[in-house]
Amino acid sequence: PEDIQKTVKLKNGTELPALGMGTWNIGDRRDRRSDEIASLRAGIDLGLRVIDTAEMYGSGRSEDLVGEAIEGRRDDVYLVSKVLPSNASFQGVQKACRTSLRRLKTDVIDLYLLHWRGGVPLEETVRGMEALRDEGLIRDWGVSNFDTDDMEEIEEVGSDCMANQILYSLEYRGTEYDLLEHDASRGIVTMAYSPLGQGGDLLKHRVMREIASRHSTSLGEATTAQIALAWVLRRENILAIPKASSPAHLRENAASLEIGLTDEDLAALDEAFPPPHRKTRLAML
Ligand code: NDP
Repeated sequence: PEDIQKTVKLKNGTELPALGMGTWNIGDRRDRRSDEIASLRAGIDLGLRVIDTAEMYGSGRSEDLVGEAIEGRRDDVYLVSKVLPSNASFQGVQKACRTSLRRLKTDVIDLYLLHWRGGVPLEETVRGMEALRDEGLIRDWGVSNFDTDDMEEIEEVGSDCMANQILYSLEYRGTEYDLLEHDASRGIVTMAYSPLGQGGDLLKHRVMREIASRHSTSLGEATTAQIALAWVLRRENILAIPKASSPAHLRENAASLEIGLTDEDLAALDEAFPPPHRKTRLAML
């Protein structure tokens, strides 16, 4: 695999490429399966080593497909999966993790996240995560969809939370008010999910098109998807995990790393997608 220059560092020293791959809705359709597998493999070759999945996605079908895609290449990949809050008790994580490992056809998950906060006390979930780590079934743990107050609580019960995976894109900038800084100041990496606005209106926006027309990559004129990613990746401490299910989209997304947005671009984006001026609750999908 190639080496990606832009990286983030976990607080245990592990360095990861700042661009990875999402897999929500992957593995749901038989006729898409070979393209989806080819796309993940193309991504690994391009150095997008971080693959994000979850037991929830397609009730295990995403993990299953990821397992197939990484067969024989486990060491090239940094594998992230997530446990549902309903499985986040001490015993629950034991069972859920083993089921995920079976589907992923591997013996260790690199980073295991609590998908969102539910009814189980955080202290119990953290104890469960640490037991999994001690047994060698996971290397590290983290959380997802945690707002600033949740982060303060999790830090009280465990100091080893490595990452917080949250919604972050031009359309959802609320976390710029406090959460992004909060996590960065504690060495907790932000994983930005749905950075492409799920392929919706964001990619058709007039300002996005104008900015794309001013940039190019080794693949040719830049696209709005590349601008959306370059914007998320302009910050330090952020690992973006766009999902792409064709090798062409995947290559396009990887080439976003070649784009440096100018002050003029950033100002135009601030005008079209204003940054927050007050605290709002963390949005989630
Ligand atoms: P994204 O913002 O990544 O958008 C994905 C969509 O964008 C797909 O329709 C994809 O189409 C399209 N797309 C990808 N590349 C391009 C391109 N170059 N040009 C045009 N369109 C493109 O949305 P997701 O919601 O999938 O978020 C990414 C990942 O984040 C998820 O897959 C999941 O792993 C994670 N996630 C985590 C959540 C959490 O609660 N922790 C919640 C939501 C997501 P195509 O498939 O055809 O390539």
